[in-house]
Amino acid sequence: MKLYSSRRNGRLPTIALLSIFLFVASCDGNTTSPAPPPNPGTTLTPPVQRVIGIQAGHGNGDSGASLCSGANKIPGIDNEADLNLAIANKVVELLRSVNGYTVHLYVGKDSRMKGLKADAFVAVHADQGKPGISGYKVSRFGGQKGSGLDGSGDASDRLVQAIWDEYGSATGLIKDTSPGHFTDDMLYYYALGWIDTSTPGAIIEMGWLCDDLPILLYEQERVAHGIARGIVKFLGDSTAQLPPIPTRLPPTQSPVPSVTQEISGVLFTINANRGWQDTGISIVRGSQVSIEYVSGLWFEDPPGQWHDASGEPNPWICTAPTCHEPSHDFPKYALIGKIGEGGALLKIGNGLDFVAEAETTGILYLRPNYGDVDIPIHNPQGAVTVTITIR
Ligand SMILES: [Zn+2]
Repeated sequence: MKLYSSRRNGRLPTIALLSIFLFVASCDGNTTSPAPPPNPGTTLTPPVQRVIGIQAGHGNGDSGASLCSGANKIPGIDNEADLNLAIANKVVELLRSVNGYTVHLYVGKDSRMKGLKADAFVAVHADQGKPGISGYKVSRFGGQKGSGLDGSGDASDRLVQAIWDEYGSATGLIKDTSPGHFTDDMLYYYALGWIDTSTPGAIIEMGWLCDDLPILLYEQERVAHGIARGIVKFLGDSTAQLPPIPTRLPPTQSPVPSVTQEISGVLFTINANRGWQDTGISIVRGSQVSIEYVSGLWFEDPPGQWHDASGEPNPWICTAPTCHEPSHDFPKYALIGKIGEGGALLKIGNGLDFVAEAETTGILYLRPNYGDVDIPIHNPQGAVTVTITIR
């Protein structure tokens, strides 16, 4: 940087400055350097060596938090400890794919974490909660409620911030910045107190084990990518060394909706606080469409009572012409859909199988039967997840 400012001051002859500039550029591996690229046979600079520690929270007899009762589960994941380990393994695998990275996995209270010196350390957890709460949190040791940072801007702050940024964009989960959700167990996490004070450390609560369970169970690659990318970004290395983040839905095969698109059991989450939500799935005439409720609850009404995709319990139909619901003969808070921007309303509830008619070709949209054209009229909470199958 000093050399660069000397050049701008114009104190040195142009040729000397240009060669200094080229020297600096090539040291940085800057692609703007006009020097020819090295031949394949040329010895390249060895990759930067990094040591990273990943801890799967709980385990070794401590099961951690429980999964939401009634949730669809997957084999081998019965509690938070199982989930943390599954994700931590994937994070380790992703990071080990980067040249020069040495990655250690710790499970629960592994004493090898005491005095650990590493370039980064991240503990992986998930939160137990009631339906209606969603989002992830990140903190350092001694972080503040709401941000998880201590404001010093040091390496741990930067690691925490990088994970905040990357995890959200990889998973689509929202940031949970409710101060009350940052417990002392998290803000003063024991393992972050065990590692060497020189080691940048963070803990992530990946989401809540009710509403966020579909993503944490069925989209683990994206979850792991979010954590791994945060670490790589913090270390200042290129995330291009990681494989691409898997897409949530199969890519659309053709912009022309004449190609039959077969989809089997794709998960899609519909939020309470949004209007029509684009599934990215195009439905063509004659397709057999199946939409099934999987998990999640939304709309706390009255207090303490959450509803599923059929509007249960105590479903209520608002029949008056002044009602705000898009459908006046289907329960409030039930799941509805349409195919194409101007498609007829589909009354889905907890499940619907139908064959798309001649006029119904277009994108499948889903939303709750609630509110004005644009909700929210107040800010409803929660989400439901469905599987969508097209044949
Ligand atoms: Zn935990």
